[in-house]
Amino acid sequence: MNIFQGTAFTLEERQIMGIQGLMPAAILTQEEQMVRVMTNFYKRSNDLDRYIYLMALQERNERLFYRVLCEHTEEMMPIVYTPTVGQACQEYGVTFRKPRGLFLSINDKGHLFEMMCNWPEQDVKAIVVTDGERILGLGDLGSYGMGIPVGKLSLYTALGGIVPEQCLPILLDVGTNNEKLLNDPLYIGLKRPRVKGQEYDDFVEEFMTSAVRKYGQNCLIQFEDFGNHNAFRFLEKYRDRYCTFNDDIQGTASVAAAGVFAALRITGKKLSDNVFVFQGAGEASIGIAQLIALAMEEEGTSTEEARSKIWMVDSRGLIVKNRPKGGVSGHKVDFAKDHEPVDKLEDVVSKLKPTVLIGAAAVPGAFTTKILKEMGEFNKRPVIFALSNPTSMSECTAEQAYQATEGRCVFASGSPFSPVQLNGKLYHPGQGNNAYIFPGVALGIIACGVRHVEDKIFLHSAKALADMVTQENLDEGRVYPPLNLIREVSVQIATKLAEDVYREGLATTYPEPANKEEFIRSHIYEPDYECFVPETWPWPQN
Ligand code: NAP
Ligand code: MN
Repeated sequence: MNIFQGTAFTLEERQIMGIQGLMPAAILTQEEQMVRVMTNFYKRSNDLDRYIYLMALQERNERLFYRVLCEHTEEMMPIVYTPTVGQACQEYGVTFRKPRGLFLSINDKGHLFEMMCNWPEQDVKAIVVTDGERILGLGDLGSYGMGIPVGKLSLYTALGGIVPEQCLPILLDVGTNNEKLLNDPLYIGLKRPRVKGQEYDDFVEEFMTSAVRKYGQNCLIQFEDFGNHNAFRFLEKYRDRYCTFNDDIQGTASVAAAGVFAALRITGKKLSDNVFVFQGAGEASIGIAQLIALAMEEEGTSTEEARSKIWMVDSRGLIVKNRPKGGVSGHKVDFAKDHEPVDKLEDVVSKLKPTVLIGAAAVPGAFTTKILKEMGEFNKRPVIFALSNPTSMSECTAEQAYQATEGRCVFASGSPFSPVQLNGKLYHPGQGNNAYIFPGVALGIIACGVRHVEDKIFLHSAKALADMVTQENLDEGRVYPPLNLIREVSVQIATKLAEDVYREGLATTYPEPANKEEFIRSHIYEPDYECFVPETWPWPQN
C-alpha cells in the first residue's frame, strides 16, 4: 500500500485508492507538510541528525524531500552535501538505515550487467560512480563513500532538475586500505585490501560496458572521488568513448575558473596578467590550471606563455624541472618551471608574489597569517581561494583571510563560511562549490543527448556562471551568485551548452529546438505532487 504522499492525498484520492482511514482526517498541502519538515529539521541538535532526518524523508516522500531542497537550498546544501555528507560517510556504518544506490563488488566480477538489471528503474540517464578511495579530503572511506554519489545525485535533481528515477548512484567496492574500516564491525563493504592493477582496470571496464549496454551510449557517467592516480587515467581512457566526465577534475576546474573570471572584474586585470600559485597539484589543482590555461589561450595567449603564469606546489615543494626531491610526472610536467627548488609555500609566495593563490591540497591551515598578509601587501585586491573540503581541511577561514588583508581579498572556499563582519562592513565569502556547475552541465548533456563531454563545455559553463554575478554581488565580495539562485544558474549553463552543442553538431536529440532556453526548461523536474485520480471521460449518448 503506497501512502508516500501521506496527509497530502485528497479525500477523493484516499477513497478511490482504498487508503481512506490509513491516515488521519486532516488534508495538508505540500506547503503545509513542508512546515512540518522544517520544524523537525530545526529541532535536530546537530547536522548529522539533520542529514539522517532528510535521508529518511527522501526514502518516505521523495517529492516533499525535493521541494524542501529546492526551496531551502542554502540551508540544505551543507547537509546533503559538503561538509555534513563527509561526516555522514565517516559514520555510515552507524547512520545506515536502508541501502540506497547500487553496490557492485569485485566479487561480482563478470555479473555487473545482470546486477544492473536488478535496479528497479529502466530509464537511467545519469550515473555517479565512486570507488570510495578519496572521499572529499577525507581519504579512503571504501563503501562508506556511497554517501557521495547519493548526495550528488540529489543535487542533480534539486539543482539541475533531472528526474530522480533517471539518476543512479553506484559504488564500486574493490575493498579499502583504511585500517580503521577494516576493523570496524559495522563496516558495510568488503573487508579486504583494495584490488589494484589489471584486475581493477578490468572491473571498471566491465562496469563501463555494462552501463552503456543497459542504459545506452548517451547515459552520462560521472566519476567522483576516485584516487588521483585512477581519476586522470580513467578520464583519458574513457572521455572519447563514453559520455563521461570527472567532477573533481573538470567540475572543480569550471567553478574555480568562474570565480577567477568574476574576480577579474574586481581586480580589473586581464586573465593573462595574473600570476597563479596553486597549493596542491592533484585532481582539483591540475584541472583548474588546465582550464585557466585554455581560457588564456582563447584570449590569444600561447600555450607556453599561459603555462608560464601558473606555478604549482605539491607535497615535495614547488614543481620545478630536475627537482632533487624527486621527479615530476603526469600533468605536473606541463607546469614544471626552470627555477631553483623551493620547499615551503611561504617562501614560494614571497618569491613569486602571486596575484591569485588557490589551495586544494587538503592541508588545513596551509595559508598562514604570514602568507595571507603578504598577499595583501603584493596586491590591492589579492585573490585567495581555499578550496579544500570539508571545512576542517580548509587552507584558512574566511575570517582569517579578510582580517589579514584588511578586507581587501577576494575570497572563496570549497565548503561554506558564514559572512564575516570586519570594521563595520559585512563580507560574503563565495562558495566555490561544484554544485554551481555539474547540475547544469548534466541537464544540458542529458536534454541534448550529448555523447562526449569536451573541456570547452566546462570553460563555457564557467563563463556563463561568471556572467551571472552582478555588480551588486561583487560589491559584497561575492564571486558567485547567491546560492538561492543556483537552479536558475543551472538553466543558464544548460542553455549555453545547448546552443554550443547544436551549433557544433554534437547534439543527438532531434529535431533541434528553436528556443533552447524553453527546451531546457521543459526538461526540469518539478516536485509538485501528482494527481492520483484517474482521468475519466463520458461517451456520446448514441
Ligand atoms: P588529490 O588529487 O589527492 O591532490 C592532492 C594534492 O595535494 C597532491 O598534488 C598532493 O601532492 C598535494 N599535497 C599533499 N600534501 C601537501 C603539502 N603538504 N603541501 C603541498 N601540497 C600537498 O586531491 P584533489 O582531488 O585535488 O583534492 C584536494 C582537495 O581539494 C580536497 O580537500 C578536496 O575536497 C578539495 N576539492 C574541492 C573542490 C571544490 O571546492 N570545489 C573540488 C574538488 C576538490 P603530491 O602530488 O605530491 O601527492
Ligand atoms: Mn568530489
